[in-house]
Amino acid sequence: MKKFILISFILLWTLLAQDRETNKLIEGLLGDTPIEEDLKELCDVIGGRPTGSRANSLSIDWGLKKFQEAGVSASKEAFTMPGLWLENETSAQISGAAEFEPRVVALTFSKGTHRTGLRGKLVDGGHGTTDDFAKLGENARGNFVIIETDELVDIDGLFKEYADAVLIEDLAYEAGVKGLVYMSSRPMRLLYRHNASRSFENTLPMVVMAREDAKRCLRILRNDESLALLVKINVRKGGAYKSYNVIGEIKGSERPEEVVIIGAHLDSWGLGTGANDNGCNIAMMIDIARQMIKLDLKPKRTIRFALWNGEELGLYGSMAYTEQYESQLDNHVMAMSVDIGSGPITGFFTGGRPDVLNVTNKIMDPLTDLGMFTNIDIPLVGTDNFDFMMHGVGNLIANHEPANYAPNYHAESDTYDKVNLEALKRNSAIVAAVTLGYANDLNINLPRQSRQNIEKLVESTDLEQQMKSMMGIWYQWLDGKRGRKK
Ligand SMILES: [Zn+2]
Repeated sequence: MKKFILISFILLWTLLAQDRETNKLIEGLLGDTPIEEDLKELCDVIGGRPTGSRANSLSIDWGLKKFQEAGVSASKEAFTMPGLWLENETSAQISGAAEFEPRVVALTFSKGTHRTGLRGKLVDGGHGTTDDFAKLGENARGNFVIIETDELVDIDGLFKEYADAVLIEDLAYEAGVKGLVYMSSRPMRLLYRHNASRSFENTLPMVVMAREDAKRCLRILRNDESLALLVKINVRKGGAYKSYNVIGEIKGSERPEEVVIIGAHLDSWGLGTGANDNGCNIAMMIDIARQMIKLDLKPKRTIRFALWNGEELGLYGSMAYTEQYESQLDNHVMAMSVDIGSGPITGFFTGGRPDVLNVTNKIMDPLTDLGMFTNIDIPLVGTDNFDFMMHGVGNLIANHEPANYAPNYHAESDTYDKVNLEALKRNSAIVAAVTLGYANDLNINLPRQSRQNIEKLVESTDLEQQMKSMMGIWYQWLDGKRGRKK
């Protein structure tokens, strides 16, 4: 009996000590920290940073320096990007029944044109459905097809845009079009950059045209008048090259071989300055690591802070990590991604893993001061948790109030002023508390899933459909190029 009381006392004391550490960390992160200054440096000074660009290189060194200045042990970890694609300049001219210069930008992986441009007839492709292409018939061949889009209002719309593009582009190839013109899904002549669905295999010129300009074209075409399009797409393309993730680490005091990894992606598109996607959460990673060192916290498991690269082009940095560290993945307790902007965190996506859901619920129960949370147990494709999920590692994605994420997504308008700084600080306290919960509770046991378990997850959810809408990763999984092999 005495022994029991003693053990209970030690247990209680340990729990309280853990709570005290978590509370100190939360308090520290909610207090005065340089997170806003860091975010300004990354977005305003370095700016948009597509992987392979000079700004991206600067951001790698910046991230490394930030960790080092905070006393966090960190390194640049090299990986191979499959190819280079950067836009230099894109322009267009409409002629025929009307003459004007629409605002355009190239889709990522778009084919470039000759310096003097590529000219063709512009035809109305409706919404780019099977019926629409059937209606166009031979009229699509050798012409530019313009695709009408619905206005984007939320993240569901964004997922639909990605899924629709796969079918539209398949139909366009089949019809033998000269090129595709997508109507921008955002008003006010806002442009953004999406990936062509075939990724590095894309061979068509493709642009996004300002919504108002595209509507003008469609009104004229639907009035039975004809238009021609001259488009000049100047892109920089190249073969495989070396890029880097930046990984910071705080070694575990009791089980250093066990790892909790949290991350955000350093790269962005070059149109805006990648503030909500994903500079704000890069600043969060640095702020959490810095605060843990400042408070001299000693997590029991190792915590790694990942600044991923190559995310926008196909999640290449985090994929490389899961390959490089494959022999350690059995010891990865949890992998978290934060990549849905700076709206207040409402909970986490727990990846279709009831065991992860239970643990996360338990860790978050005491966090009532930071908000009301609902964790949602579905698997999601689209950010750096993906390869961990396909390797069977327990994974989380922070879920946020949608706020202004979707309207500014990948757009010229994704700049510092769109970040909700107050929510960002609270978000960082939430992420830190969950991370510490995973790192300190040695009773947590989330065994890595087998290939069979992962296949079951794919079959029992809409993962297959999601994977098919993202950059060919479905085939990489089938071919064994991605995910757990056995
Ligand atoms: Zn992102």
